[in-house]
Amino acid sequence: MFKKILIANRGEIALRIQRACREMGIKAVMVYSEADRDAKYVRLADEAVCIGPASSTHSYLNMPAIISAAEVTDAEAIHPGYGFLSENADFAERVEKSGFTFIGPSPDSIRLMGDKVSAKQAMIRAGVPCVPGSEGALPDDPVVIKRTAKAVGYPVIIKAAGGGGGRGMRVVHTEAALLHAVQTTKAEAGAAFGNAEVYMEKFLQNPRHIEIQILADTHRNAVYLGERDCSMQRRHQKVIEEAPAPGIPRRLIEKIGERCAAACKKIGYRGAGTFEFLFENGEFYFIEMNTRVQVEHPVTEWISGVDIVRTQIAVAAGEKLPFTQRQVQLRGHAIECRINAEDAYKFTPSPGRITTWHAPGGPGVRVDSHVYTNYFVPPNYDSMIGKIIVHGDTREQALARMRTALAETVIEGIKTNIPLHRELMVDASFVAGGTNIHYLEEWLSQRER
Ligand code: ADP
Repeated sequence: MFKKILIANRGEIALRIQRACREMGIKAVMVYSEADRDAKYVRLADEAVCIGPASSTHSYLNMPAIISAAEVTDAEAIHPGYGFLSENADFAERVEKSGFTFIGPSPDSIRLMGDKVSAKQAMIRAGVPCVPGSEGALPDDPVVIKRTAKAVGYPVIIKAAGGGGGRGMRVVHTEAALLHAVQTTKAEAGAAFGNAEVYMEKFLQNPRHIEIQILADTHRNAVYLGERDCSMQRRHQKVIEEAPAPGIPRRLIEKIGERCAAACKKIGYRGAGTFEFLFENGEFYFIEMNTRVQVEHPVTEWISGVDIVRTQIAVAAGEKLPFTQRQVQLRGHAIECRINAEDAYKFTPSPGRITTWHAPGGPGVRVDSHVYTNYFVPPNYDSMIGKIIVHGDTREQALARMRTALAETVIEGIKTNIPLHRELMVDASFVAGGTNIHYLEEWLSQRER
């Protein structure tokens, strides 16, 4: 096992990884920007190295600075967390070329999945169902583009091969709008992602977002840890996640889960990963794979009893997965609310000093957050300041625990989205379960009226 790991991230996930290291008897090196200098998790680290100014381009995205920090501290491995460099194949490659272990999949796997066209082709080959659409990237020939759209059936969505974070997509309802939409998306994709390739998919009208968590080792073992329902989104950003997904028959989940695990073996995937699907009319359609730990991993940890971050570290060190698929037993129901420093209904960021931080507790409540009273939320990064996760024997009990937890939470000095979560936890449709990916935005627009 590693003796020392460098954590190339910040905030709650940096603390989460640091906790896993402590538990495993591994020393944790934190890198930090000037804006995070005083953070408690930085002070708590065995060693900490400043890698640059607040701007992430010059700190958390600064590859040479991070690799030098690993060199001067004699770390053996680098955990990238999520966001920042976690899905950057060039970074993974540089880490390995510099003699460190990258805690994640191989650069080749990251590259394969990072390009949505090649990812989709790999999934089709591995027998994972995908959204019907163009075979690979769209050609330039307008006749072929029109023919493809006709065959797929309107509405269609044009998506950038290199897209991410909900950007680089355009829905097309009629043939008249098609060619212009393809051209515009191509131009935007070229400018934003340095790759003008686009592809076409059928636009699903009312899907749910269901994802499968997988873990794979370097001994050809891969398991899935059930699913998560992340349909409560605003602008393609997840707000609430839960596991299991309400109302989806277990046999459907098992069937798709087995396909995902088999696909991992086929592409030689290692580490943690997530297959994201749209789910409509009882069918799963693959949209993309995330080759890293996800924000919402705790809901899966809770129903499966598997520590995902610890397992990432163990398989990166070459260990075998400590359990088989048959040993994975899912129990109860878990819900996560992302706590953001922002206006609950206008969504404007609200950085600044937290004057009171009172976190909830009690049975079935987990809080993953790096903040505390007197913590200053820097304006430079994502607005998420933590996550409240609850578990119950049933979904009803989990909902009741989340309501209690949100009622106990006191955060003063900045605005947060806690009021939004409090309302959603008593909303009839959310409580009934199974809302689709448009539900939250529709709910918000009705609330305004
Ligand atoms: P990104 O990597 O930018 O997050 P995704 O491919 O995961 O892109 O898609 C993001 C979101 O866009 C999905 O969660 C869904 O809301 C919407 N979307 C993507 N493809 C389709 C599709 N074929 N039909 C309907 N909605 C889609």
